[in-house]
Amino acid sequence: MAEITKLKPGRKGAKCPICGRPPEPAYRPFCSKRCADVDLGRWLGGDYRVATEETPDEPDPSGQLAKKE
Ligand SMILES: [Zn+2]
Repeated sequence: MAEITKLKPGRKGAKCPICGRPPEPAYRPFCSKRCADVDLGRWLGGDYRVATEETPDEPDPSGQLAKKE
């Protein structure tokens, strides 16, 4: 039923890890400087915006939390 391999390796289909668009050679593996900056910001863990740490404390709307192990 479920197709396991949809992404075949070897295919020249590297995508921008940020938005999934075809990368530009100048900004590989990203498609643009914008996406490169986004990735860079992630790596640095710094936000240009106000640093507001989001606490994973939001209640699950479905009421189905992860299984307790
Ligand atoms: Zn991109």
